Amino acid sequence: MPKQPPTDPKKRKGLIIVNTGDGKGKSTASFGLALRAAGNKMNVFIMQFMKGPWKAGERKALQELANYVEYEAMGDGFTWDTENTEQDKKTARAAFEIAKEKLMSGKYQMIILDEINYVLDYKFFPLDEFLETLRNKPKDVHVVCSGRNANEKLIEMADLVTEMRLIKHPFEEQGIPAQKGIEF
Ligand code: ATP
Ligand code: MG
Repeated sequence: MPKQPPTDPKKRKGLIIVNTGDGKGKSTASFGLALRAAGNKMNVFIMQFMKGPWKAGERKALQELANYVEYEAMGDGFTWDTENTEQDKKTARAAFEIAKEKLMSGKYQMIILDEINYVLDYKFFPLDEFLETLRNKPKDVHVVCSGRNANEKLIEMADLVTEMRLIKHPFEEQGIPAQKGIEF
């Protein structure tokens, strides 16, 4: 990872950011922040808390930003197994432990936890432990939490919360299938 440019410590405050709601754009807004941060020579780590693998558009673009952006998906090829909640919990914890290690390492200025809200909503990971980790995070690291149904306690703790609200979706309205560059 490249060395970081100096920033005025008085002006630097790591924000807790939440992208939630039933409208499209939560994950793409998070990746947009990664793009912006990388352009500012900041180091970013992204953990995708969802069934992998990464969508091709993201994977290829993030490879181009590899100097600044590192990313992992929780168990590539993995799908949530509602029959086996214990396994889901183990997988979620394994991904969380990696993300936490990155958060605490001091190497990154931004950590993106894509779909973490889903993991917390389904109780695959204990909310209290997650909130405690955020409380103890390094003060200057931004953390982005995306996914539907963000928990009220997380919203309360966060500094920046945006709700994407569904007005129209091409699939719902017209049955238009996923489009390259828009959905993957
Ligand atoms: P994106 O990854 O495009 O930013 P998102 O993170 O806001 O979307 P998710 O809740 O993670 O959305 O949904 C994952 C996928 O489901 C997205 O590709 C999205 O377009 C699709 N989706 C969201 N809402 C609808 C809907 N109402 N009907 C059909 N598909 C939907
Ligand atoms: Mg998403």
